[in-house]
Amino acid sequence: MLVLGHQNPDCDSLCSAIGLASLFNKMGRPATPVLQGEPNPEAQFLLEQSGLPQPEIRTEVAGEDIFIVDYSDWGQGTADMKKANILGIVDHHKLGDITTSAPLECWIWPVGCSATIVYNMYKFNNQTPDAPVAKMMMGAIISDTVNFQGPTTTDIDKVAAKELAEIAGVTDLGAFAEAQFEAKSDIAAVSAAELILRDQKVFEMAGEKLAIGQLELTSLETAFSKKTDMLAEMGQLQADKGYHSTIVLLTDINKLDTTALIISKDADKVASALNSKVEDHAFELPGVVSRKKQIIPFLQEAFEA
Ligand code: MN
Ligand code: MN
Repeated sequence: MLVLGHQNPDCDSLCSAIGLASLFNKMGRPATPVLQGEPNPEAQFLLEQSGLPQPEIRTEVAGEDIFIVDYSDWGQGTADMKKANILGIVDHHKLGDITTSAPLECWIWPVGCSATIVYNMYKFNNQTPDAPVAKMMMGAIISDTVNFQGPTTTDIDKVAAKELAEIAGVTDLGAFAEAQFEAKSDIAAVSAAELILRDQKVFEMAGEKLAIGQLELTSLETAFSKKTDMLAEMGQLQADKGYHSTIVLLTDINKLDTTALIISKDADKVASALNSKVEDHAFELPGVVSRKKQIIPFLQEAFEA
């Protein structure tokens, strides 16, 4: 069985795949974590910290038994995923459009991180993750909940992260989080093209496609210095793919605010759905840090009204 995260692998996609595959192996079900691409720098930081090897990259899964983690949309999977045998889903996003022809095992909880669910699957099965795996899962929870500051954070996430830290031997969770966030904020040498795609997801709303990326940074200064280049790349992508909008959310994880960059057929519609106003291809979203909870539902409402 393959355990497969989503496109543009983030910490959760990587760590939940590793965590779940390891659980299955403990229970005598051979499983391999796989990625759809190179993990992002924050996820790579977690691999370094835990000493685990990077899982293999797989973009073809036709004919395979697969378990998917951190998504439930066909669009987030491989192009051939409809030809795979989906045995199960672990996710914490809004329910996507995946359907199957056979019954499957679904663990979909409204918590801050898929790794929180995977850890509870360990508990359900009376298992304990190995220390390096626990460290990966702990890091995923720190990432997805923005160190427990984000609005998707639940007590279930806090308990899971605390117990995983104990298993991993991490005594100072705050210091670990700080180092982890520094790793993902180091964007000075990263090209504008790479930045806009780093965490991009494409959402379909009333027949229109909106590509929305998010960069979570300890300061927005360096990102702002790349604004012109990013807008140029976003315009190119928008023209190539025919999107309604191409958006990059620049989220300051210390101030817990977001500035959105936008190229759009109707930028005012997008900004006003989020109670903001566009100025020079950008709009402010004070207090917004969560794409899944504070952005997508409001855009969906505006587009599908
Ligand atoms: Mn994810
Ligand atoms: Mn996640």
